[in-house]
This record gives sequence, C-alpha cells and structure tokens, in this order.
Amino acid sequence: MKKIFLAAAVASIASVISFSGFSDAPAVGAIELPKLPYGENALEPVISAKTMGFHYGKHHKAYVDKLNSLLKDSPLKGKSLEGIIVASAGKEDMAGIFNNAAQAWNHSFFWKSMKPAGGGEPRGKLLELINKSFGSYAEFKKQFADAGAAQFGSGWGWLVQDGDKLKIMKTSNADTPIAHNLNPLITCDVWEHAYYLDYQNRRGDFINAFLDKLVNWDFAEANLK
Ligand code: MN
Repeated sequence: MKKIFLAAAVASIASVISFSGFSDAPAVGAIELPKLPYGENALEPVISAKTMGFHYGKHHKAYVDKLNSLLKDSPLKGKSLEGIIVASAGKEDMAGIFNNAAQAWNHSFFWKSMKPAGGGEPRGKLLELINKSFGSYAEFKKQFADAGAAQFGSGWGWLVQDGDKLKIMKTSNADTPIAHNLNPLITCDVWEHAYYLDYQNRRGDFINAFLDKLVNWDFAEANLK
C-alpha cells in the first residue's frame, strides 16, 4: 500500500518538474506573433521572399517583442491587442506601448490584406460599395494609390468603412483606424521597409502592384459590418 502511494507521489512530482521546465511556452498574458497566412515566398515576384523574411521575421517580430517587454510593468498587460491599442491611444505616457501594439496589429492586418494571385476588381457587394463611394473602381484605385504615395514619411494606406460609405485614409507611423473608431477593410504598408528591397524609391509602383496582383478582396468583404 505504502509503495503504491510513493510511486504515485514520485510520478506526480516528476510531472510537475517536467511541466515547469517547459520554457518555450509563451508567458501568460503575452501578445503572440501570429503565423503568416502563406509562405514567405508566396507573394513572389510582387514581394520577394527576402522582403517578407525581413518584414515579418524581423520588423513585425520586433514590434511584438518590444510590446511584450513594455507590457511587463503595465496595467494593460493581459488585455487583447485591440484593447491595448484603444486604451493607450493619445496618451503621451503610453506612446511606446501604443506604437508597438498598433504596429503589431497593423502588420497582422496587412498580411491578411494580401493573397497569392489576388488583386484586380472586387465583385458583388464590395464593388457596389466602391462604385457608390468613389464613382468607379478606376477612381478608387487612383485615390488609394495617390493617398499612399502622398503619405509623407512612414505610414499606412487604408480602405475603411464609415457607416454605409467607404473611404480612403492614410495614417502616419503606427497610427491605425481602430484607434479612431473606424472599420478597416484592407491596408497597404507604405513604410520604406515594405518595398525598398524590391522597388527602391518607387513607392507608387509598389502600391499599384499591391492593388493589381495581391489585394485580398475576400478578406475586405469579410470585414464589412
Ligand atoms: Mn511594415
């Protein structure tokens, strides 16, 4: 009887030791880097695997890592990424948390805004809304590309839903429509790191290639409210 009890106790201690030794588990309450929805080479030749490797594996990862280190001593630790963005927006003493949280969110949204063999005109409800809001797809495309090209310095180009209309929006640095109570449908990253290896200074060519060959209209339609 005593022997059986001891064996059970030893097994139970062993399982505790092996569990606590599992150091790869993410820390409780930490924000995780989501997996890319496709391989790093899946958007070639429009966006090279080299650009994706740096952009996702270095830039996006660095925003997530920095955010987790800033959250360690913050009352916002444990909130969702969206909750952290809304709670830190416009607060000077939380600028570091806002910038890294918004960049983490914007990049995840950007990866989903693209797919291999995407691009071109959307169909159905989305095309109706684009025609109603901009007059035509060609006019939407021109305004979206112009907004991205006109964004001075680093930032993002967006198609957002504002009530029953769609609008084009550009944001600076880390700023994001979800901090302004607007519903984003798609985004294009216009920071230089998004295109410089493949397009050098030709930001306009990159935005047009995004619209013609990559944009994921299924994702945009799924985001309509
Ligand atoms: Mn980026």
